[in-house]
Amino acid sequence: MGYLCLNTENIVVEIGSLKEETESTEFYDGILCPGFVNSHCHIELSHLKGKLSQNTGMAGFIRQINQLRDRTEKNERVSCIQKEMDQLYCSGVSAMADISNCDESFDIKASSLMYTRTFLEVFGSEPEDSPLITEKVKKLNLASKQWRIDGGPSPHSCYTMSPRLLNATIEEALKEGWLSNHNQESWEEEELIRFGRGPLADEFRGRGLSNPPINSKGALQYFLGFIRAISEKEEKKPDASILLVHNTFTDAESIDRASELIENLYWAICPLSNLFIHSALPPVELLRRKGAVITLGTDSLSSNTTLSIIEEIKTLQRYFPWITLEEMLSWASRNGANFLKKESELGSFTPGKNPGVVYIDNIDYNNMKLTKDSHSVRVA
Ligand SMILES: [Zn+2]
Repeated sequence: MGYLCLNTENIVVEIGSLKEETESTEFYDGILCPGFVNSHCHIELSHLKGKLSQNTGMAGFIRQINQLRDRTEKNERVSCIQKEMDQLYCSGVSAMADISNCDESFDIKASSLMYTRTFLEVFGSEPEDSPLITEKVKKLNLASKQWRIDGGPSPHSCYTMSPRLLNATIEEALKEGWLSNHNQESWEEEELIRFGRGPLADEFRGRGLSNPPINSKGALQYFLGFIRAISEKEEKKPDASILLVHNTFTDAESIDRASELIENLYWAICPLSNLFIHSALPPVELLRRKGAVITLGTDSLSSNTTLSIIEEIKTLQRYFPWITLEEMLSWASRNGANFLKKESELGSFTPGKNPGVVYIDNIDYNNMKLTKDSHSVRVA
């Protein structure tokens, strides 16, 4: 029987097999796992739960967000953030990489027991708008610093930014030490960047917005062009942690080029969000074969029905039944902790760390798999 010993401050003292039972020994029929790291969320969109239609594709999804985002009163939006942050913590999430466009989540993050790193999302397709956008994000960054939450500006994606703004934002994020970028989330994004056509191209043109420059090698290699130029200027590879989010429509060539260029590279996958918007899933097997370091995210409640790492794992288990539960739990915990550079505290039951303890119940022990009734709950 597995055994985990914590001190009164929940710091791991020992891990091994149970030798003798004491008065304080608690028994759990299931799996104990180090606290989860949700590596991609937009907690400030929590009020959009149940409000968007599924399977609309990326252009339809963006249209719905723009229509619905501000329809809810601020106090209701904030109470949804609080509720979901509490729920994430209770379900075992110890840390989260979260995207913000405004300051509505900052005080909740500041008082949460869950660690968060906040990516202040920058986007804007018109080069002349760059100074104004940069100024707004600078103010938001200042506000986040006043709340003493970790964070900094980061790009939204290659397809929603002018090259000038994208370059400036990448530079700034690399300086901060962390960068998160939505990558190859939809086929529409690839169609837009590789050929300048498709639903996103039409959507932007229809709104009088510029399309990004065409790059026949796709969004990721376009993004890598900026990283390469910065590396050459500084004569070294970036030492920042770089997170590529979604990767639903990535390909072998893109993965190879990114892996060559970036040392601390992480691939966040959010399967339930991809199914919600596009009825698609990322090429998980290809990523594994290429040795990509995978992390798990829930994305937001605008494109998911629940913020639950265990439900993301159940979904992966359904579509990729050959991947072991142990491997997926390492994506959900250790890899995310490494991305956040929190490996000295989180991500494993190593003596001296305080990763939090998640209890997962209703395990199919014969096959070492989750069942549909498996839940995760924080026990420390
Ligand atoms: Zn996102």
